[in-house]
Amino acid sequence: MIPIGSDQFVTSQLQQFCESYTPALKKIERFPSLQLGLQLLRVSLGVCRGVHLLRTLQLEFCQALATNLSSALRNTLSTLLDIDLPQAGWALASFSLKNGGMGLQDPIAIQPAAYISSRVSALQAGGNAQVQADLILIPLTLHSYLQDFPAVGSWVQQGGNISSQQFQNDWAKQHWWAAQAEALAVRRWEEACSFREKRCRQLFSVPHSSDWLRVVPNRDPTTHLSNAQVKALTKFRLAMPQAGVVPPCPGCHEQQDQFGDHALSCVQMGRYARHNDVREALRNISQHSGLHVHAGEAPPLPSGRRPDLLIDRLGQGRPLAVDVSCSHPLHPSSFTAENDPTASLAKVVHLKNAIYQQECSTKGWAFAPLVALTTGQWSSNAASLIRRLATWGVAQYGGEATAVATNMFARLGLSLQNSCGHQLVRAFTAEDPATSAAGSDYPIYLH
Ligand SMILES: [Zn+2]
Repeated sequence: MIPIGSDQFVTSQLQQFCESYTPALKKIERFPSLQLGLQLLRVSLGVCRGVHLLRTLQLEFCQALATNLSSALRNTLSTLLDIDLPQAGWALASFSLKNGGMGLQDPIAIQPAAYISSRVSALQAGGNAQVQADLILIPLTLHSYLQDFPAVGSWVQQGGNISSQQFQNDWAKQHWWAAQAEALAVRRWEEACSFREKRCRQLFSVPHSSDWLRVVPNRDPTTHLSNAQVKALTKFRLAMPQAGVVPPCPGCHEQQDQFGDHALSCVQMGRYARHNDVREALRNISQHSGLHVHAGEAPPLPSGRRPDLLIDRLGQGRPLAVDVSCSHPLHPSSFTAENDPTASLAKVVHLKNAIYQQECSTKGWAFAPLVALTTGQWSSNAASLIRRLATWGVAQYGGEATAVATNMFARLGLSLQNSCGHQLVRAFTAEDPATSAAGSDYPIYLH
């Protein structure tokens, strides 16, 4: 509902709106599943609740409302994660998943996009002089915003004529403004952030690294992450310390770092279990695509080496041997500006191919390495392996290949994050989540 009336009436209606919004956020804080709570915050309890108001009210009301909603969302996220979320962390959380954030759009960032696009689209639809005046008399706050959009700024100054040559249809689309503004916000944020924050955002913005965040926990228990795991993984994603007081590593008893890089790299903190969880998730996906997978590891090669899996017929009619590797890209020894995680993925792929390809071909097998980073990045050949699996599954059971491949990435990603979450929780608390990613049912369910 849009309040129309005196300033006093609109103010009181907006106050009521905010008062009705707060209890919903409080319910999220008490929600049993933090995994689901964060999803609800992202898709249905965030800025989308107030966007109709931000698109229609006068600017000063929009700005006040956006400030209130922003602070309520930031407080909720702080409470959920049990941390005092700094501005840089909140800004990172507010970036979209594809930009390495948490997809919790900040109403303050959305408000100018909503305001301008709604006026422009109203003008396009034959809006009246009042709409045009709203645009032309844009207050200073929006003038400074429009400095980043000089073409729009000069069009507005020239009277905001829809039929002018300069006018672009995109200007009437809120998502266009939001995307342009986010790209600028990311650049500015990177100028001021720490090296770690910058590196984390880049690592989590690669394709498929956020697919697991879209998995809705369901009757399949392996789609569930414990609240402690979700907290630890979210702090890691936001480049926040895991704990104020850092205990020694419970695996090797050496001093560990506050962010969890040691925990995710230490051999005695579940690196092998993490590898095995991804291997089992791949086995599961392959079997649910109608492929026969050799029990246990692949049979031994002449050298005695055994690839992790042997999947029948996936190697263009030949059996496909797969070897899995999951490394952590932020190990202190490799934590430099020069270190390129994508290059290190390619290096592991090259190494695995050198070790296995020749020997596998003597057995009549094809070979593919499945190489991942703990941050959810997959080697480019892993993507083609998953696409082949998806094509196979679709040929057996139907469906749409791209959607099936995305589900498969989400499933693999969730199993990887389940293990990483387990490692982080174990490293910093006494809690030991019981969930294991291995043996899950497929398909998973995405919203
Ligand atoms: Zn250790």
